[in-house]
Amino acid sequence: MNDLVDTEGAADAVRREFERVHGRAPEGVWAAPGRVNLIGEHTDYNDGFCLPMALPRTTVLAAGRRDDGLLRLHSTRGGEGRITELRVAELAPGGVTGWARYPAGVVWALRERGLPVGGADVHLDSTVPVGAGLSSSAALECAVAVAYDELYGLRLDRPETARVAQYAENAFAGVPCGVMDQMASMCCTEGNALHLDSRTLEVRQVPFDLTGHGLRLLVLDTGVSHDLADGAYAALRAGCERAAGLLGVAALRDLGGADLPAALAGLPPELAPLVRHVVTENERVGQAVDRLAAGAPEALGALLTAGHASLRDDYRVSCAETDLAVAAAVGAGALGARMTGGGFGGSVIALVREDAAEGVARAVAGAFASAGFKPPSVLEAVPSAGARRTA
Ligand code: ADP
Ligand code: MG
Repeated sequence: MNDLVDTEGAADAVRREFERVHGRAPEGVWAAPGRVNLIGEHTDYNDGFCLPMALPRTTVLAAGRRDDGLLRLHSTRGGEGRITELRVAELAPGGVTGWARYPAGVVWALRERGLPVGGADVHLDSTVPVGAGLSSSAALECAVAVAYDELYGLRLDRPETARVAQYAENAFAGVPCGVMDQMASMCCTEGNALHLDSRTLEVRQVPFDLTGHGLRLLVLDTGVSHDLADGAYAALRAGCERAAGLLGVAALRDLGGADLPAALAGLPPELAPLVRHVVTENERVGQAVDRLAAGAPEALGALLTAGHASLRDDYRVSCAETDLAVAAAVGAGALGARMTGGGFGGSVIALVREDAAEGVARAVAGAFASAGFKPPSVLEAVPSAGARRTA
C-alpha cells in the first residue's frame, strides 16, 4: 500500500523512451498530477467550491518542438505503440479520436486563444490509473499545457492554463467536465489541499498534515470504469442549470442552506434532490476547510461519509461497488469515506487512523470478494505538488 511514486525515475525512463521513439533528444520533461477530491463533488460546474489535493501519481511527458507544424504523439498507454501524427494548423473538434484528442485538444485550445504554437514531438507515460476517477485526463492535458507553455514561451498563469485544458476537454474531447480537475493538477502544492472557488478561480492552500495527525488517506479503485462522455454527466449538469434558471440565480452556488426549504418547495421532483446535494455539498466544503484550519483533520471523516450519502441518495451517481467500499471501510473503522470524482464507478477515498489502514483495506477487499466484485486496488494519497518541469 506504500505509494511512494518516483517521478524523477519516471522522468528518466520517459526521456529514454522519447529518444527511442522520436530519434532525437527532448527539450524537456514535465509532470502533472492526478488528484483526489476530498469534498465538493459536482459543485464545480455549479460555480461552487471544492477541496481537491494532488496525488503523488503523475503523467510524465517529454517534448521537443518541430518546425514543420506536425504534432507527433506517442503514449506508453495509448494507440498500441503507434505515433499519432497530426497537423497543428488543421486541428478541429471532432477531427481526432481516441486518447490523442486530449493532448491535441490542448494544442488546439492554445491556438484558439491566438497563441503562437506550432508542432512538437511528444512521448508520455502515466502512473495515474486511467479511467479510475483520479483525473488521468486532466493530468495529461496539464502536462501538455505546461510543456507547450514553456516550449513556446506563452507565459500563461496557472488558472489560465487550467481553463485552456478544461476547454480542450469540453470542446475538443467532448467531455463536459467542470474546472476542478485541471485546477487541481495546475495549482495544488505539496502538503496542502486546494480550496477552490470555481466561479472566480480563487484558490487557497489549506495545510493537510496527515502523518502529523497519525492519519492516512486510502484510495480504493473499484476498477469500475466510468465514462463521463456517456450523457449521464451532461444530463446532471443540464438539470442543475435548469434548476438555477427556475430559481432565478446565475448558478446553484448562489444558494445557501437558508434558501433551501423555499427552493426545494418550488422545484419539480426530479430537480429538487440535485439542488439539495449541491447546496449541502458547498456547505460541507466550508466546514471541511474550517476543520482543517482548526487543526482537526480527523473531523473530516464525518463530512466525507455525509457527502457520500448525498451523492448516493440525492445526486445518484454512486454505484454498488462504491457504496460497498464506503460501507465496508466505515464498518472497519475508517473515520469516513466517500466516492471521489464524477461517479458511476471510479474510486473511493477513506480517511483512516494509521493503525486501522491495513484492516480497512482488508475489509474492503473481503467485502468485494463476497459480493463477487473484482478486487479493488489500493493506493495512498499524500498531498503532492502540481504540474512542473522535472528535467
Ligand atoms: P480519468 O480522468 O478519471 O482517469 P477520463 O475518462 O476522464 O478518466 O480520462 C481517461 C482517458 O484519458 C483515457 O481513456 C485516455 O483516452 C486518456 N488518457 C489518460 N492518461 C493517458 C495516458 N497515459 N496515455 C494515453 N491516454 C491517456
Ligand atoms: Mg477525467
